[in-house]
Amino acid sequence: MARRTNSIGHRTISALVLSALIFTLSSLTGAQTRPPAATSPRVPAKPKLVVLLVVDQMRGDYVDKFLGQWTGGLKRLVEEGAWFRDAAFPYAATETCVGHATISTGAFPATHGMVANAWWDRKEQKMVTCTADPDPSVKNTGYAGATPKGADTAWRLAVPSFAEELKFQTSETTRIVTFSLKARAAITMAGHKADAATWFDGGAWATSSPYGTQPFIEEQAKSHPAKADFGKTWSLSLPESAYWYGEKALGAVPPDGWDLTFPHPLRGKMGVGEPDGAFYEQWASSPYADTALTELAEKAVDALNLGKAAGTDFLAVSYSSVDYVGHEFGPRSREIQDILVRLDKDLGDLFAHLDQKVGRGNYVVALSADHGVVPIPEDMQKTGADAGVLHLPELQERIEKAVEPFNYAKPAVARISGSDIYFAPGVYDKLQQDHAALQVVLDAALAQPGVAAVYRAEELRDRPATQSPVHRAMANSYFPGRSGDLFILPKPYWLLDGTPTGKQRSYGTGHGVPYNYDQHVPVLLMGFGIQPGQYSQPITPADIAPTLAALCGITLSSRDGHVLAEALKRPASTSAPAKSSLGAPRN
Ligand SMILES: [Zn+2]
Repeated sequence: MARRTNSIGHRTISALVLSALIFTLSSLTGAQTRPPAATSPRVPAKPKLVVLLVVDQMRGDYVDKFLGQWTGGLKRLVEEGAWFRDAAFPYAATETCVGHATISTGAFPATHGMVANAWWDRKEQKMVTCTADPDPSVKNTGYAGATPKGADTAWRLAVPSFAEELKFQTSETTRIVTFSLKARAAITMAGHKADAATWFDGGAWATSSPYGTQPFIEEQAKSHPAKADFGKTWSLSLPESAYWYGEKALGAVPPDGWDLTFPHPLRGKMGVGEPDGAFYEQWASSPYADTALTELAEKAVDALNLGKAAGTDFLAVSYSSVDYVGHEFGPRSREIQDILVRLDKDLGDLFAHLDQKVGRGNYVVALSADHGVVPIPEDMQKTGADAGVLHLPELQERIEKAVEPFNYAKPAVARISGSDIYFAPGVYDKLQQDHAALQVVLDAALAQPGVAAVYRAEELRDRPATQSPVHRAMANSYFPGRSGDLFILPKPYWLLDGTPTGKQRSYGTGHGVPYNYDQHVPVLLMGFGIQPGQYSQPITPADIAPTLAALCGITLSSRDGHVLAEALKRPASTSAPAKSSLGAPRN
């Protein structure tokens, strides 16, 4: 509530500061009568390189909790950058594809259309991933001889990314390079085309046909393959007394071949022999995968001379391992604490590399996360608070039973995916005219343990004005045709779980709901044009792309986010004293 009320006044201030910024920038570019000598030749008008970093599943409070133990890049971002301490996604679908698309475009899922990692395709009557491309001419390809399956692109992304707008609006001078373990992260950060968008699939680096392949990635894939880390061990990197939580995370489900306690050896399922599927799972859940991504990013800077060309280049890395570790061990684990210590070191190395190759002050960094995570329900229950597991297959059975007397298609429910309930063709249209049956369905859903509320599609369409932040969050996630017919809001600390009845949950915990533990993430900006400091006003990660666009002097078509003008430096006031009222606004 406070967020939306504040943002109106905030937006007005932002507009004022932005116009001041644009005014001053235009004076620096020589449109005014000031002598050229008045501008500092050492300050470029635009960043040479934009670096976007996403730490998958990094909760906002990890910075507050663990900052004191960091000495590398994460610490530097806080100390030398702008730290937005109250950043949160204002929508319900707090998932990877959604968060990356939001950060990349500056729009909410109601605009960019990436409503989940995967959703029910009503036409095809099957689940589709957010990057699955049905175009038969598109193919995934692998580096170092790998042959990945499928075809993944950004064709379902309804608006251009910041990166592709940058390239398009600056005469194609921009190079776009992205890396992640996940296709849905590398692709959404890049956009529809790129010089390279690279992800990890089946033990090797992969890309697809709309994206370029790069010799330096081929070289790295051959000389430093993931399997070279076979036999290494992930051990605690700080003294034992530095860790906040117990040796074993309650309710954790580690990858095959790992115990609940450190050290975690990367030796696959059996602990001997050749890398197997379990090894790659362990590798992805270890700091070694983050290091591999960091090395690729550094190689990209070297091989392509990023930040040295005529335009502004774009480099993005989404670090996936915090997410895997979080799903397995939960947020209250030594594993999460330790992998952040290791990531802090990697980021320190990356920034040192950028300082050397691109030059301190010539590049701008934005770091955020795509979503947070809920504590493992069994762990949360220890506190006495209401927490649990919301079994989606049970919910589906309840709804089927409830509609049985009303003569509907069987099954009436086509799919429940996360909080979205999709009915079989024609069923929801009929239910909307059949108030008695619809009421019975809603009552049945509300009777499922852990369900707090049920929303109907027609309540979310066109983002209705509402006083309820949860209702608004649901509406910000709603994209016609892709979203469900009904939507479950779980109670706080209730995990949505699709594990078939009678089977053991294969993971510790998850995310994807409109509560702060999933929505609150860090937003850190550092470098070119950024005014360091701590900022406490509520913002969203959708503000990152418009802010980068302002720094680069481009325009995004549609955006739900706004420019974080408070964190933009007023351009070097080496020239004449600032014009009184225009030069004065805040900071
Ligand atoms: Zn994620």
